[in-house]
Amino acid sequence: SATYNFCAGPAMLPSIVMEKAQSELINWQDLGCSVMELSHRSKAYMAVAEKAEADLRMLMDIPENYHVLFMHGGGRGQFSAVPLNLLPTDAKADYIVTGSWSSAAAKEAANYGNINVIDAVQDIDNIKSIKSPTDWALSADAQYVHYCPNETVDGIEIFEIPETNGVPLIADMSSTILSREIDVSKFGLIYAGAQKNIGPSGLTIVIVRDNLIGNARKETPSVFNYQLAANNGSMYNTPPTFAWYLAGLVFEWLKDIGGVEGISRVNIEKANMLYQCIDQSGFYKNNIDKSNRSLMNIPFWLNDESLNSSFLAEAEQSGLLALKGHRSVGGMRASIYNAMPIEGVAALVNFMNVFAERHKA
Ligand code: PLP
Repeated sequence: SATYNFCAGPAMLPSIVMEKAQSELINWQDLGCSVMELSHRSKAYMAVAEKAEADLRMLMDIPENYHVLFMHGGGRGQFSAVPLNLLPTDAKADYIVTGSWSSAAAKEAANYGNINVIDAVQDIDNIKSIKSPTDWALSADAQYVHYCPNETVDGIEIFEIPETNGVPLIADMSSTILSREIDVSKFGLIYAGAQKNIGPSGLTIVIVRDNLIGNARKETPSVFNYQLAANNGSMYNTPPTFAWYLAGLVFEWLKDIGGVEGISRVNIEKANMLYQCIDQSGFYKNNIDKSNRSLMNIPFWLNDESLNSSFLAEAEQSGLLALKGHRSVGGMRASIYNAMPIEGVAALVNFMNVFAERHKA
């Protein structure tokens, strides 16, 4: 029977994409070699790179005045690249902290400037929610406001785009990009590691408004300099070519199945199925307010935590993989990115119901 991988990242990719990549692996476009073995400057590869960018622009409706950069370094690389490119020495930036990744971003940025950390999570009766944005004490003189719309570890998501009164808004969208429609024009910069909704790890997407680049600090490593990346079509140094090609296949797949609008409907349905199972069970619990529950990463706990290891072992036997929660929060976590089919979530819900029935006191 089928196997479903609920890993938070690197995450499962659409099987149809993996089959295509496999069929093309050794003899790509009859060139007698793999796309992995081509020069990034060859005509054949450039066509792949350009098509991927064009498809991403179409999928996200990215305005003309934004650059799309294909970079190295992952989400954490951007934790440094953002301040190095956008924050003059001793200037100030606001960091909205809603979980472990936005907290890590703020900590890294503090190496470069004056970081105003805004704790935006409230805990009421053990249920976490996002404080009203009117209670976020944004600075009057911030160069930018940084936030993480979806916290991968904590499973808390901000659906409304924050209002920043003209201050550029920067978003770490590593675990939410392409999962639902967003208005790119509301952002100064969006970045995302690829290994969840885009493709293999090793590739990082940066979408940046053109008026925000060109002022990088002198000490910015060249490979992290947005201006250099933009001027060189993301080929200042050798890009992660195979990951870029595979991302292109994922973009084609997403276009074929109805784009971001289409997948967002499926994503809402999948998340609803799982939260409903948790809420109705009397056996599992989730600790996030309904208005801020993540569509992509769903942490949950068994009321009887002594059953954790049998839950995980039996799930694995049923082909339901990587459900162990992040080590910092414990419990379980089901990551249900775009590539997780609805059948995978149905199989998980079925397993959880049967397990609960069997172990209810
Ligand atoms: N930001 C978010 C929201 C993440 O989920 C992750 C990784 O899971 C990161 C940043 C770090 O990404 P990377 O490992 O690519 O540096």
